[in-house]
Amino acid sequence: MLHVGIDDTDSLDGGCTTWVALRVIEELQPDFDLIGPPRLVRLNPDVLWKTRGNGAVALAFGRGAGEQIQVGELPGGPVFAHAEAPPTALDAEALLERVLAIVRAEARPSAQPGVIVSEARPPEGLYWQGVRGIVRDTQLREALEGSAHAGLNGGRGLAGAACALAWSPRSGGVALRYTWELLGYRERDRWGTPRKISAESVTAVAAVEKTFGCRDPDGSPAMVPHSPCPVLWGLRGLEPAPLTAGFAALGPEQPERWLLWQTNQATDDHYATTLPAEGGASVRLTGAVAGPPRSHRGGHRFFRFAHEGGELECAAFEPSGDFRHVVDQLAPGDELEVCGSVKAGVLKLEKLRVIALAPRQRKPPNPACPECGARTHSAGRDAGYRCRPCGTRVPAPTPEPVAPALAPGWYDPPTSARRHLVRPARLMETASSSRRPIFKTEER
Ligand SMILES: [Zn+2]
Repeated sequence: MLHVGIDDTDSLDGGCTTWVALRVIEELQPDFDLIGPPRLVRLNPDVLWKTRGNGAVALAFGRGAGEQIQVGELPGGPVFAHAEAPPTALDAEALLERVLAIVRAEARPSAQPGVIVSEARPPEGLYWQGVRGIVRDTQLREALEGSAHAGLNGGRGLAGAACALAWSPRSGGVALRYTWELLGYRERDRWGTPRKISAESVTAVAAVEKTFGCRDPDGSPAMVPHSPCPVLWGLRGLEPAPLTAGFAALGPEQPERWLLWQTNQATDDHYATTLPAEGGASVRLTGAVAGPPRSHRGGHRFFRFAHEGGELECAAFEPSGDFRHVVDQLAPGDELEVCGSVKAGVLKLEKLRVIALAPRQRKPPNPACPECGARTHSAGRDAGYRCRPCGTRVPAPTPEPVAPALAPGWYDPPTSARRHLVRPARLMETASSSRRPIFKTEER
């Protein structure tokens, strides 16, 4: 069995690494079986040179054995993934040449593709380096030892290709170590034209069991891209079978091909638990609100947040929609877990969990004068209240407790504002998940 890693074939103006991988599967199908499902691995969303989603792909080819499931449909017929591959001697260099020919034909001119063909996969530590940080040259050189590989046009994609090969969906024992995405692809002559996918059909597949990320809370489709890439739609879910069984409802435009991907999307793998010494990174931190939320021009919201390592500013920007109303309800002392990318001392919120709410108080109405019944007024700081007509003084009334307008639990921005790696709030398991939040940030 040979593992094939591919990255950096696309660019901001279109193209898509999953499409290149699909073409590789198509070209190799007469000679090789696909072993295990194709994998789409999202890497550090904070690196500067990323294309839209910073996704790399990993495939495995060989002579298939054991159980097989359908993972795709191409014009030439169905694609099956086999569960096992008995040991066979395969020529890695020859396979690399065949893959490179496809990459050269399909990659965008501005891309820096990297392709790796190897019998062994790099250690999993390389994946964690690539999803949370930046892979150093020495690490990459070690990972490439003994493999057949090639970098084109600079070959920046070699690092992503190696990280994709290093990802293991099986490790950890942590819940939701992987999810699935069924990608539908368009005929080549439709690329760049508007996609004809109705909101009604998106609503229909959003009801398919264990799917997520189909729609925004306002009902608008979030699973249909707007870029000129070959992808028609992406249907995400926690299990593969409901996706392949349920996608037919999407339309009226039908995919020319489709392929089911096992992914690290919605795993939160990009979050470190400590702040980076330098550069951008994504973190999850526990702490408390240290100052009242402020609204800035443009509709952005900010608040101070104190955590074990110090204090930073948390931000919810305008595209996060109603999520900002959650931020508006926060009060100093509220205990939170915040998740997002940190840059220059500002954490851009990707989601937050209200762990515990500080007591909220309200100043009661000014008391009436006990002598003449007139409304009293504050006599100044710590000086109580005074009746102007008769001069009677009364003590300041004690503040009244107010029920918070928030419940403990997870909150996040709409799907369309969410990064691929972020697990949606409604998939976060919490002790308080049975409580109904007052703001509807849930979607399907
Ligand atoms: Zn009075």
